[in-house]
Parts: sequence; structure tokens; C-alpha cells
Amino acid sequence: MPGTLFIVTAPSGAGKTTLVRGLLQRDPRVQLSISYTTRAPRPGEQDGREYHFVDVPTFRALRDRGEFLEWAEVHGNYYATSKVWLRDQIAAGRDTLLEIDWQGAQQVRKSFPEAVGVFIMPPSMEELEARLRGRGTDSDEVISRRLLGARGEMRHVAEFDYVIINNEIDVALDDLVAVVRAARLRYPNQHQRHPDFFDFLEQD
Ligand code: 5GP
Repeated sequence: MPGTLFIVTAPSGAGKTTLVRGLLQRDPRVQLSISYTTRAPRPGEQDGREYHFVDVPTFRALRDRGEFLEWAEVHGNYYATSKVWLRDQIAAGRDTLLEIDWQGAQQVRKSFPEAVGVFIMPPSMEELEARLRGRGTDSDEVISRRLLGARGEMRHVAEFDYVIINNEIDVALDDLVAVVRAARLRYPNQHQRHPDFFDFLEQD
């Protein structure tokens, strides 16, 4: 039975990375897709763990060879999801989560219309700015650019199946765990999981 594909999108600073990390701990059956990016690693990030860090010519070469399911330019850097790897994982039945922006989400939905979209919102714009500044990893210029981008990103919230407002992290994590659990209970998934039982119902 194919795995479920989850797309998680949020403006940066909404707490997406913390939430996704929490989900992976609470639910080891969900795995994270590791994207390609041309942005520089932040302190503590490792190649092959948070991202595959590549330079622009390498990114363009991979893209032009058709290696990517989707790609987008976000905050002046390129990001992309590997096509073959993701197809294989879903076909092998592994529930896989993409942490991508709204542009990537739109492209992925074309190939995987049954993907479950989750949008994570900050409680307010003021709180978002405070979180971006508190992180201390990005310059003022990067923060201003990201705040501007956040509004644009949030305009796409209606394209997602579920919306989680990350006011309190524990509550938001419970919400995300609940979404994953609910997705596994959708009829097509249950049908494939218990074919004998459902087929029995169709007999006279
Ligand atoms: P960051 O640089 O903070 O890790 O990520 C910046 C933005 O790029 C986030 O909105 C994140 O969701 C998005 N992003 C990360 N990986 C991908 C990807 O593979 N494809 C797309 N379209 N966006 C991505």
C-alpha cells in the first residue's frame, strides 16, 4: 500500500521545523524528505541531514536533468524536492513529509493530488517578527525580507487541507500528530489496509 504524502508549509518563524521535529519523535513511521538547496548551511546544519547543500551550477544541472519533482526560489535561494527518491518512498509505503513553500506545494499537488496539505500559522505578525529576531541566526536584512515574504506565503493558506495555529507549541504538536493520525484513517487507506473486511461487505 502506498505511503501518505504530507506537505507542511509555513512562513519562516512560524515554528515549522520544531513542530516537524516533534512529530518525527512522536511518530517514527513518518520520515522527512531532504530537499536540495543553494543557501548556505546555518550553524549546526549538516549536509545530507537538514538539506543537500549544493552550489547554483549543480542545482541547475540537476534541475535541467529532470531530477526534481518541484523547485522554487525562496528568499533568493533555490530549493527542490528529489523526484525519484520521493516516488520510490511513497510506492514503498513510507509516510513522507515535505517541508516546502507554497509554490512547491502547488507543484507537488499536481503529481500527488491525494497529498495531505498542512499550513502552520504564527499567532500574529508581531509574534512572528519577535520569533525571527529571537532566532539570532539571520541578519536584519534577511529578517525584513522574510517578514515581507510571510504575508505573501500566508495568502495561500486556503489551498491547504489543515491549518494549525502555533500559539502554544505543545498544543500545535498535538494538532499535527492528530492530522497524521486522521490521514491514516481515510477510507482509501483503511480499505487497502483491511481489504478482506471491506471486500466481504460487498458480497451478497
Ligand atoms: P529555510 O532556508 O528557512 O530552511 O527554508 C526557507 C523556505 O524554503 C521555507 O519556506 C521552506 O519551506 C522552503 N523549502 C525548503 N525546502 C524546500 C523544497 O524542497 N522545495 C520548496 N519549494 N521549498 C522548500
